[in-house]
Amino acid sequence: MTPLAKILIDRIIATGPISLADYMTECLLHPKHGYYSTRDPFGTDGDFTTAPEISQMFGELLGLCMAQTWLEQGSPSSFILVELGPGRGTLMADVLRATQGVVGFHAAAQIMLVEASSKLQQVQRERLADYDVTWIGTVGELPDGPLYLLANEFFDALPIHQYIMEKDGWRERLVGVADGELAFGASGVADLPTLNHRRKDCRNNDLVEVSGAATAIAAEIAARIAAHGGVAIIIDYGDWRSLGDTLQALRNHEFDSPLAHPGEADITAHVDFEALAVAAVSHTPVSKMLPQGDLLQRLGILQRAEALAKGLSGETLETHLTALKRLTEPTEMGTLFKAIAFYPNGATPPPGFTP
Ligand code: SAH
Repeated sequence: MTPLAKILIDRIIATGPISLADYMTECLLHPKHGYYSTRDPFGTDGDFTTAPEISQMFGELLGLCMAQTWLEQGSPSSFILVELGPGRGTLMADVLRATQGVVGFHAAAQIMLVEASSKLQQVQRERLADYDVTWIGTVGELPDGPLYLLANEFFDALPIHQYIMEKDGWRERLVGVADGELAFGASGVADLPTLNHRRKDCRNNDLVEVSGAATAIAAEIAARIAAHGGVAIIIDYGDWRSLGDTLQALRNHEFDSPLAHPGEADITAHVDFEALAVAAVSHTPVSKMLPQGDLLQRLGILQRAEALAKGLSGETLETHLTALKRLTEPTEMGTLFKAIAFYPNGATPPPGFTP
């Protein structure tokens, strides 16, 4: 049993079952035993690899996409360049390197990273030592101003609630204790007006996932872009409207049962892009959702890959070509991962996106 499992079991025995959202938050961010609080989980030695860790091309293309949007919006002389959940800081490092030649872009940018883990903040500080960076814990702490925001595999780490449809309402899936171990259970049936729209496309016993944390952040970002200009590009694995249980735990590159090793496995859920879009659209236009592979191709990944390949041979060339495939091909990350953008009223969507 992990130390965090013991803590959670004692708490549940004392005060009752907890929501899945509480469970996820403790697993990922418990100050002493949380997954992100205790380790650097990325890369080949870690539990999983993300797009920016696979190839520099990912961050380069997104950086140029941001810079082009900044130019199209009249090159505001001061703006906030922010990344949510920057992991090792690789994406931001690639964005900044790729945009060095864009006249005025760096001088106007105030770089801010939203990161809950002090352990990962330290990794980012080393990675971005050449830049003036400010760390904050939540988007609510962002100053006012044009906001150019990237979030890759951030929203999937936000806590979700799961609800099971019944004839007369919804049961919430809870984490309790059975036979001395963590076990799934469910609340009594309650009427949940916020899920009324799902009664049409769900049948009894269907499970839907809701992330209040994710929609609150999407709404906050969109409101800031509506007020001050900018753009938000969100990339994650997921789809339009969630249906079914997508909670997953990953430990040492292998799937694990979500309750088996709290604090020692990464716990995520698919992102419901419809929910993000609905939260944003009362503030800003929202682009069509599109697969990551399509976005990267529209941004010129094939041309960039070709240019980089010219300087490579042997094993490094092989690694480079494999990385291109991993980022774009449908059997790899190309279609499982999706992208969406929020942009100001009256503006065109950022390059690669359509209204
Ligand atoms: N974007 C990076 C890392 C993704 S992993 C990449 O693509 O490689 C998720 C990141 O979000 C980690 O840095 C994690 O510490 C951070 N994170 C998770 N939940 C968070 C929260 N509620 N607030 C701020 N950061 C969070």
